[in-house]
Parts: sequence; C-alpha cells; structure tokens
Amino acid sequence: MKYDYLIVGAGLYGAVFARQAMDAGKKVLVIDRRNHVAGNVYTEDVEGIHVHRYGAHIFHTNSRRVWSYITRFAEFNRFTNSPVANYKGELYSLPFNMYTFNKMWGVVTPEQAAAKIAEQRREITGEPRNLEEQAISLVGRDIYEKLIKGYTEKQWGRDCRELPAFIIKRLPVRLTFDNNYFNALHQGIPMGGYTRMVERLLRGAEVRLGCDYFADRPRWDALADRVVYTGPIDAYFGYRLGTLEYRSVRFETELLDIPNFQGNAAVNYTDRETPWTRIIEHKWFEFGKDDRGNDIPVTVISREYSSEWKPGDEPYYPVNDAKNSALYQQYKALAEQERNVIFGGRLGEYRYYDMDQVIAAALERFEME
Ligand code: UDP
Repeated sequence: MKYDYLIVGAGLYGAVFARQAMDAGKKVLVIDRRNHVAGNVYTEDVEGIHVHRYGAHIFHTNSRRVWSYITRFAEFNRFTNSPVANYKGELYSLPFNMYTFNKMWGVVTPEQAAAKIAEQRREITGEPRNLEEQAISLVGRDIYEKLIKGYTEKQWGRDCRELPAFIIKRLPVRLTFDNNYFNALHQGIPMGGYTRMVERLLRGAEVRLGCDYFADRPRWDALADRVVYTGPIDAYFGYRLGTLEYRSVRFETELLDIPNFQGNAAVNYTDRETPWTRIIEHKWFEFGKDDRGNDIPVTVISREYSSEWKPGDEPYYPVNDAKNSALYQQYKALAEQERNVIFGGRLGEYRYYDMDQVIAAALERFEME
C-alpha cells in the first residue's frame, strides 16, 4: 500500500485528520471532487473580501483544546456574531435578549421581560414535544410568531410542530443586553480566510482535487490501508436503504458597487413572505477591511434560499427528525461493519455539527487509531 490513509473530502474533518496523521508520521492522500480544498468552509477572494461561498461560518467554541489547536493554523479576529432579524421591515436584535424584548413589548427591566415570557409560556404545559412548543416555552408566542416560525419553516421546509425541539435550543435566551449570538468562550473569523487555514492544516499532504471517489472506487481503495470518508453516509452505501434527507441552500451572490448594503454581516428575514432566509454581507466578518487593513469600497452580498435536497444538489444540513434518525441508525450499523473505513463529519455522521465539534471529533477519532 502506498498510503496509510485515503481521505475522501478536503473539508475540516478531513484536513484535521490528515494533519494529525501526518504529524504521527503517516502517509496520507486527500482527494476531493471539488476543485478546491476546505469543503463548505471554503472562502474565495472577491475584491479583497473573503466570500463564504457555501454559507456563513463563524467559528465559536467552549473547548480550550479545540481553540488552542485551531489557532496554530490561523489567527482569529474579534468578530462576534450578532444577527439582526427583519420581520416585515421591523428590526429586532438576535439572539433573544433585552434589546429584543424591549422592541417587542416595550419592557424595560429584566423582571418585566421575565413576567411577559412567563405569561406567554403558560399555554405550554408539560415537556415541549416539538420545536414550536419548545420555542413558545422559551420566549413566548409573540417572539415565536415574529422571529422563529417563518424563518424556521423556510429553513427546514417543515412545520415547526414536526421539527425536533433541540434545533431551537442552539439559540441563547438572555435577560441581559447582550447581542452575542453564541455562548462561547472563544469566537472569531480566521484572518486571511478559512481556505488559508485549511491549506495550512493540509501542508505537506498530497492533495488531488477534482477527483470523484465514486467514479473509481476500487482504484482509490487499493491505494491505502484505511479510508476516511467524509461524504454523505447514504451515498457511500449506494443509497441501498433509501436516501437520508438533507436541506440544501441556494446562494444568490452579488457584487455591489456601494460600500455598505445592510450594515451587518447577517440579517435574517423572519417572515414567511420574503423568499430568502437571510442575507450575508461578507465584508462585515472582517470589519469591512481587506487583508492589509484598508477599507473596501464595494460589497458582496449573498441571499440564501433554503430548499429540499435532491440528487445533484449540495447537502448542507442533515434533517434530524425521527424518520431520518432511524434510517441513519441503520446506515450506521452498516458503517460499523466496514472495518477499514472511518466515517466522519457532518455528512459522514449525519449530524448537525458545528466546526469546533467537527475538529474535536476528528482529533478524537485519530487518537483512537
Ligand atoms: N432560528 C430562528 N430565527 C432566527 C434564527 C434562527 O427561528 O432568526 C432558529 C431556526 O429554527 C434555526 C435554528 O434557530 O434552524 C438554529 O439557527 P442557527 O443560526 O444555529 O442555524 P445555522 O446558522 O446553523 O443555519
């Protein structure tokens, strides 16, 4: 065998695994069907702006281990995510905090806000059974109707009563004036872009781009002792038990000849009528400056349209409802029988992983080797 590991997919999981393997003296070959590395964290330079081509990625973690690891490969800026919600032209602060409650109800003190939420959550008795009940029990019906329902149904293409409660628990609810979207010890955007960070992770690896694993599987498999597969788990098995569902996203990206379109990196459109879920204005991830610290006179925006994944589309989000989770368990059982294959990452493990969780998972998986 020529390589110890064939790594299918040059995204974050594959790149971290490759780095660890190389540091342990292993030989790795990394392949990706795209013509670039970095998977969905890929950033592309447009007029000095690092454009997040497959959707916005904001790094945040509570793990000291992950933070000290990843900062070896990039310096992070002080970006703090604080999206604005636009509901039919009314603007609200996110995540749900005192600024949001003040705008929604005119309340001024935390006590008044807590009382308002307590009054509205009374309609939920017992343990919340789905996203709608979970949301109302966290923040009450008014916020649910204006800031959650439309956005969530657009993003997932499903009724909030059919979605799992855990999705909404990703968002903090605070009785303080704090627009920081994440409860994380560390947060930021890698200076110079995610692509450069991944290139550094992969330094020294043999990387072949534009190579489809499935086009010639026996040939690829013959090259290495073990395979690290980071694509969709159902695709690996030829969809033999049926297809897992994913949500896909279509991006409409525009370069505008103005310096400032929306004054913030992310604006979420939380009503049902607006067809896009959010607009990202990429330059604000880096305070409107290029890599040399100069102001950029133009701007790049991406409107995101959420859609049901179908073959040929890019899968972005696993749909972790009961039906798909059950099917995933069946695929996982098949995966466990593939002795020489490691399944990793959002698609390989069918999990709504954040970047830091992906890094932690890859580090831990390599340690088990
Ligand atoms: N969400 C919402 N309104 C918003 C933002 C988020 O209702 O303005 C809900 C929605 O259900 C979404 C979930 O919170 O699926 C998690 O949002 P997050 O921002 O973590 O999603 P991501 O950035 O991964 O797309």
